[in-house]
Amino acid sequence: MFKPKAIYFEEDIKNYALGKELLNKYKDVPMYKIQSHNNIEEMRKKSNADFMDMKRNLIIGIRKTHKFVPNHKISDYLVPYTSSGCTAACMYCYLVCNYNKCAYLRLFVNREEMLNKIIQASEKSDKELVFEIGSNSDLVLENTITNNLVWTIENFKNASKGKLTFPTKFGMVSDLLNLDHRNKIIIRISVNPEEIINKVEFGTSRLKERIEAINKLKDAGYDVGILIAPVIFVDRWKELYTDLIQRLQKDLSNKVKEDVFF
Ligand code: SF4
Repeated sequence: MFKPKAIYFEEDIKNYALGKELLNKYKDVPMYKIQSHNNIEEMRKKSNADFMDMKRNLIIGIRKTHKFVPNHKISDYLVPYTSSGCTAACMYCYLVCNYNKCAYLRLFVNREEMLNKIIQASEKSDKELVFEIGSNSDLVLENTITNNLVWTIENFKNASKGKLTFPTKFGMVSDLLNLDHRNKIIIRISVNPEEIINKVEFGTSRLKERIEAINKLKDAGYDVGILIAPVIFVDRWKELYTDLIQRLQKDLSNKVKEDVFF
């Protein structure tokens, strides 16, 4: 369970139920007011060597930009959602390229506004749209702090159209298993050989937990996909990735194997 070292928050989060809830949840943690989650002078000035220590903080604010970016992979649009950054530290994480040493976890409490925009865009469209809500963070990890994924699935179920999707490298999915998701959610679990997870994907769930999560999510009726990414060309990569695929073959349930997509 993530216990922040300090909370940096925008004053206006007090106008939101989730903002109040988080301030209360972490009332024993040192708190600092900030003007904007985008520009925390103190953090910007820190040296790169402080990267891991900075990731122990939690930044809470309000998301102001809600730009939907067209996407042509699994989804129709990438949509900024309830968090950006992450407490984990995969060495290749593209969020580090975007936010540099400020790739810490930022939470946005105006979730009603963000989800309503998705529902409106979805219902206005002639076709069934898929929205990628997890391109800026890891929502399964975030859910352990905010419960936002549970909230999102419960509040999206009545939308007349559309689907939501997100990738994850975490296995803490038990809160999602009994939800009435109505087949509107596609969860993609990212996997890599255990040796690569240990050496490169610091702070994420182990392979065993991720495979167990895939089986559980499928049993709970979710559409589940598997990402083998990024493939890292270490010595023995062919052997490691062959072992990974054999392990998936052995440990995934028959139900998953019926229709999982890669
Ligand atoms: S889990 Fe995802 S968001 Fe977090 S550091 Fe790794 S790649 Fe980045």
